[in-house]
Amino acid sequence: MTKKIAVLAGDGIGPEIVAEAVKVLNAFKQDGLAIELEYGLIGGAAYDETGSPLPDETLQMAKEADAILLGAVGGYKWEALDISVRPEKGLLGIRSQLNLFANLRPALLYPQLADASTLKPEVVSGLDLMIVRELTGGIYFGQPRGIRTLDNGEKEGYNTLVYRESEINRIGRVAFDIARKRQSRVCSVDKANVLECTELWRETMTTLSKDYADVELSHMYVDNAAMQLVRAPKQFDVMVTTNMFGDILSDCASMLTGSIGMLPSASLDENGKGMYEPIHGSAPDIAGQNIANPLATILSAAMMLRYTLDQPAFADRIEAAVSKVLDQGLRTADIFSAGMTRVTTAEMGDAVVAAL
Ligand code: NAD
Repeated sequence: MTKKIAVLAGDGIGPEIVAEAVKVLNAFKQDGLAIELEYGLIGGAAYDETGSPLPDETLQMAKEADAILLGAVGGYKWEALDISVRPEKGLLGIRSQLNLFANLRPALLYPQLADASTLKPEVVSGLDLMIVRELTGGIYFGQPRGIRTLDNGEKEGYNTLVYRESEINRIGRVAFDIARKRQSRVCSVDKANVLECTELWRETMTTLSKDYADVELSHMYVDNAAMQLVRAPKQFDVMVTTNMFGDILSDCASMLTGSIGMLPSASLDENGKGMYEPIHGSAPDIAGQNIANPLATILSAAMMLRYTLDQPAFADRIEAAVSKVLDQGLRTADIFSAGMTRVTTAEMGDAVVAAL
């Protein structure tokens, strides 16, 4: 059956990098990939056209699609707008409207780019880990929350860390299912020695693991996990954790690879439907110059094929093609180093298509 993909290019470099990912997806049509691409407006571009950063038409298209490919939103032009219509509202709106509770952030370092990391090449070369972060619960959403004034006049800020078993189970299942497609190892990160909420997290993960006898489950306290990520990141396959711990650990992990233009991400709902986007923003400082790195967006398309469209062979081909163009010495400006060949955004996309 033909799968529908909503393509939302957005602002800044969004249209340039998404165009390259679309080239790659379209190249697979001749090999039998049954997809239909539809295009919608989001962010500042949507605001300019319709007065809303997330027009109803776009939301409807996203709801009806099997998957969404997003570029990035935002830019100087819209910074003075009221917060309710800023480009970023479009992004938050689509995430919450589609209930995308599972955020998948791989940190994959191509050996060819090992010098781009601030860590020693031998520590990070070949790094391939996946952080599965719970995205719609935990302390970022728990009630009660606020800042109150005590009887003595002093102010007190408070938030609530809360997870129900059902929320833990559903993010846990995402992590275990992904591990099955990788090295079958899950490390659940918590602070069960101090926080009751994450004691329940640990218990629930342990119970859930009985449904996944083929996947090895380990547990780690978050402070140790932060240390281990920098000390020996290659020990991890899949890490699963709460919203706040995942927020912090995934940023740390992304920097192990040293290059923002290379990293894709996915946000999934309960049925595996997902929105796929590079982790970087709209880079208005280089927009329109044909110099942005399209590989994070192309690799986001690979994630879409693997996790929502269940087409791992096509995903493998994209990832292998990216590795091949790096072997050929092709580099956009952000990953350029001496002795390599500098290419434009479009040339990089063409090279990936040729290497498929
Ligand atoms: P950014 O990620 O857009 O850019 C940070 C730096 O990295 C810039 O110097 C940029 O040129 C560079 N960069 C980013 N992507 C690149 C690529 N593919 N190739 C080469 N270089 C790249 O972050 P920022 O500058 O803080 O934010 C710019 C705008 O993007 C803001 O409006 C922000 O709100 C928005 N933003 C959007 C998203 C999103 O759509 N998911 C995420 C983050 C920021």
